Amino acid sequence: MSSSISSVQAAAVSSRQTGGSTRQRRRQQWVAGVAGVAVASRHVAVVVDRVATLAHRVATLAHSSWQLQLANCIAVSSPSTSARPHHNSGKRISTVTMAGLSLLLSVALLGGVLSFAPSFRRTGKIVTQIHDSEVSASVDEVVADETKRYVVVGAGWGGWGAAKALSESGLNAQVTLIDALPDPTGAMPYLSSTGKPVEAGTRGFWKDYPNINQLCAELGLDEDEVFTPFTNSSFYSPDGLEATAPVFSEATLDSILDGVPLLGDVMKSGFAQLSGSDEFPQLPSPLGQVLATIPYFERLPIADRASMVGLLLATIDCLGGSDDVKMQYDRMTAHELFLRFKLSERLVNDFLKPTLLVGLFKPPEELSALVVMELLYYYALAHQDSFDVRWIRNGTVADSLIQPLAAKLIEERDLTVLGGCRVNEISLEKGDDGKLSATKVSYFDVKTKKMEEIETDGVVLALGCKGMESVINSSPDLARLPVFSKAASLKGIDVISCRLYFDRKIETRSPANVFSRFEALRGAGGTFFMLDQFQPDSLAELWGRDPDSIGVDEELGSVVACDFYNAGGLMSCSDEDIVRILTNELLPSAVCQFADAKLVDSWVGKYGGTVSWFSPGSYDKRPPLEGEGRNVLPNVKCAGDWVRMGDREHGAKGLCQERAFVSGFEAANSLMKDTTREIFKPHQVLAVREDELQFKLGVQANNEVMKYLPRFWTR
Ligand SMILES: Cc1cc2nc3c(=O)[nH]c(=O)nc-3n(C[C@H](O)[C@H](O)[C@H](O)COP(=O)(O)OP(=O)(O)OC[C@H]3O[C@@H](n4cnc5c(N)ncnc54)[C@H](O)[C@@H]3O)c2cc1C
Repeated sequence: MSSSISSVQAAAVSSRQTGGSTRQRRRQQWVAGVAGVAVASRHVAVVVDRVATLAHRVATLAHSSWQLQLANCIAVSSPSTSARPHHNSGKRISTVTMAGLSLLLSVALLGGVLSFAPSFRRTGKIVTQIHDSEVSASVDEVVADETKRYVVVGAGWGGWGAAKALSESGLNAQVTLIDALPDPTGAMPYLSSTGKPVEAGTRGFWKDYPNINQLCAELGLDEDEVFTPFTNSSFYSPDGLEATAPVFSEATLDSILDGVPLLGDVMKSGFAQLSGSDEFPQLPSPLGQVLATIPYFERLPIADRASMVGLLLATIDCLGGSDDVKMQYDRMTAHELFLRFKLSERLVNDFLKPTLLVGLFKPPEELSALVVMELLYYYALAHQDSFDVRWIRNGTVADSLIQPLAAKLIEERDLTVLGGCRVNEISLEKGDDGKLSATKVSYFDVKTKKMEEIETDGVVLALGCKGMESVINSSPDLARLPVFSKAASLKGIDVISCRLYFDRKIETRSPANVFSRFEALRGAGGTFFMLDQFQPDSLAELWGRDPDSIGVDEELGSVVACDFYNAGGLMSCSDEDIVRILTNELLPSAVCQFADAKLVDSWVGKYGGTVSWFSPGSYDKRPPLEGEGRNVLPNVKCAGDWVRMGDREHGAKGLCQERAFVSGFEAANSLMKDTTREIFKPHQVLAVREDELQFKLGVQANNEVMKYLPRFWTR
């Protein structure tokens, strides 16, 4: 393992030594090119902006939208904000008032529904918006050639995002990415003791991951080769199958509307006539999702499902509110939120709790209501097909995506990657301007067993909570700054990942599955993924075998990846006991064929306190992208899924690879902006799809109403 890393580094070093002058020339040409493009693109941008404004006006006029008029009406008829009443938190609002609010929002929602219904968008491609950071300096301000030494600490998605942005910026920068893992480049697979490739957790890629999709395009990877098709996911409880999540981007009219009482057939023929196809149309959210609960929820009574409407209202209020409103929701637990908005106990216990346990890795009583609503909106409510998810088709995330990215950055951009190196201290100095500056990063190299130092002009801390705690504990200069010491105080969540190898193929209803409400989980969330179904063409590789060594009559059985989240109750169990719980209790209770299958091999990995925990009240402690801020410490930025992005906030939320990746771009863009006066190319960030009209109208209406109502359900 170490030999491969050192050869990669040696290659990088030698290319740096031999390619200096050519690279310098290339870079100068590049900078001149960027300068030209920057000027030209500003002119183009002005023209495009004018055309867009005009187009928007035409569209607004052409849109015979009575709901827009309604929204305007609400806005116009409301008194000015100066008339806003004082919010009396002690005062109770009657249910009639709440009903009025609901009615208003329902009208807005219905308005959105009506305006969208005939359009039948079926989006094969995700529509994205681009918002670039600004180029740091104008062409006139270019200063003399300077070499910058940037260090990125942590090589998860956040660190790779930062390393990519810094390396591709066009600056004359030496970028070093340091990680404690032996090989963060993904070149060397992690193997179990019996030589089978394993991975900590099975990761899904949801519909709105535009920046990871863009990465595939940049690397010349075919998304259909990297990812499986979008797949169904099933929920199993001790009572059996609870629900299945459909794939909306491939749904047919029959698959969603069969079983819808009374109106099912009418809707089918109506939609078929309008669209001339048997595909289920893209309806305004959450209409399609609500309809799909009829055929896809096996047990949960309709009345319980209907109680979800309270959560929709809370989501509109929270996500459309100011930062202050979001902080109020952040202090509340999701459990309290569900109680106050009258969600049924059964809806919470049978569906929301298991969903949160596998989505944010904690039960509702331990989660921030704000982050829960962000998650539910992003993954399930924003668009009908938001929950469509796909998986890695061959091998692992590391070898499918990280490895080609790492190879490209190392070969073409001279990125240096230091694996097996644990960062200890980041030292700061005070400059003449009174601002602090990180100047040195020290790390322990496990290969040489020595402490090393590296000088730096800027650092991106792309660490999770556990890594942050260890770095801040050994960095007294950083620990003096409240932003970092608060971030280091946040605790993480325990996770256990397992691989099970069976003697036969087991068929399941869907390849991705969730365990719900099983006693054997001991409070954890659980999932199981049928890797042989995700990766049927790589079965030999899943078993750690050479495909040519498989005999004609030999049939390899199922390989199942099982993850436990919030796994504190299982961490003290032995590996054997954990495997026994899975094979004797959980798997056969969900899918009875597991009872007949024989376990051939297994692997268990335990990861204590490593995953970001969005606990109630944690928002304020999560590290901001800007670290301590450009007025105090301009050259240390933060990246990772738990980072608050401020005015650069992205639509991807929760424990999410896309969010971590984007935060890396943004942290690097900000670092370059604050540390160089040279022209650089900020990394482009693709936005997720725009909010739908009915959501925007709901927010607008709610904000008007909330000028007069105290938000008595928050504190
Ligand atoms: C079991 C599991 C399942 C998941 N499923 C999904 C999913 O289905 N879809 C999805 O999008 N997301 C999923 N996620 C979440 C996703 O993987 C994370 O949000 C994302 O990987 C976070 O990236 P990051 O860069 O913020 O942090 P990390 O990936 O945690 O990276 C931090 C890095 O810092 C390094 N480090 C720590 N301390 C030091 C130190 N002192 N010196 C040097 N290096 C250090 C670590 O080795 C690590 O590589 C899952 C996560 C887990 C654990």
